[in-house]
Amino acid sequence: MNNSKIETIKQHAKTLKLCSLNENIDIFLKDAELKDSSYQEFLFNILEGEIKAKDKKAQEKRLKMAGFPIKKIIEDFDFNFQKSITKKQVNRLLEMDWIDKVYNLIFLGPPGVGKTHLSIALGYKAVEMGYRVTFTSMDNLIYSLKTQEISRKSKGKVNKIYSSDLVIIDEIGYLPITREEANLFFQLISSLYEQASIIITSNKGFEDWTELLGDPALTTAILDRLTYKCDLFNMTGKSYRLEHRESFLQG
Ligand code: ADP
Ligand code: MG
Repeated sequence: MNNSKIETIKQHAKTLKLCSLNENIDIFLKDAELKDSSYQEFLFNILEGEIKAKDKKAQEKRLKMAGFPIKKIIEDFDFNFQKSITKKQVNRLLEMDWIDKVYNLIFLGPPGVGKTHLSIALGYKAVEMGYRVTFTSMDNLIYSLKTQEISRKSKGKVNKIYSSDLVIIDEIGYLPITREEANLFFQLISSLYEQASIIITSNKGFEDWTELLGDPALTTAILDRLTYKCDLFNMTGKSYRLEHRESFLQG
């Protein structure tokens, strides 16, 4: 095939947004020649390349949208150190059908026991499997809820949360919140109820949530919705950070 024809095909591919064909046409042609592919095989390879490229792009976009602060994977989680949750349980969760069935997960426990690690690792896997995920700290969430009417960025974040399949709310309980903030939080949890799965991490046990949220009735209403279809992990043990503290000077 002559070069000007190839250029025209590339242009057409671009117009039709067939990125893989646009970028790899030379490879497709050479490969077909080399393997003496049938027309059917040739066409199949081109279309499959296109689908793979689109899937990859969509996944990268979902990952960016999820807003994870750092990458954490299950493979790096030491189940011998943290025995409150088993590898078997986590493997079951990694199948992600709890998201389809709109179950929630709650990880409670003191700092450093792996609550955020597990939440992010599950979120990452969910993104890989095609789910829309949003990760947010509780602080950031409250800020976005409070400023959504005056800030486009906050509005965008709240909208993103509402269109997620899984919302991860990290670190409930580190900072106390006002009555008004607790109300906004309740409204969010109510709206997400049975629409999206929620992962919550908290350093406070449920008995301390009333003090945190300021109102017993509101706290009960929030906990009711969160825990109705939910797996709760009370994570105990030592802080991984403290046990594995690294010293710069002592190497
Ligand atoms: P938490 O959210 O419970 O305060 P993190 O999940 O942030 O704790 O964990 C603190 C640090 O220790 C992170 O760097 C995390 O990757 C690591 N970590 C915690 N638990 C484990 C574990 N069981 N195996 C491997 N790393 C862990
Ligand atoms: Mg944490």
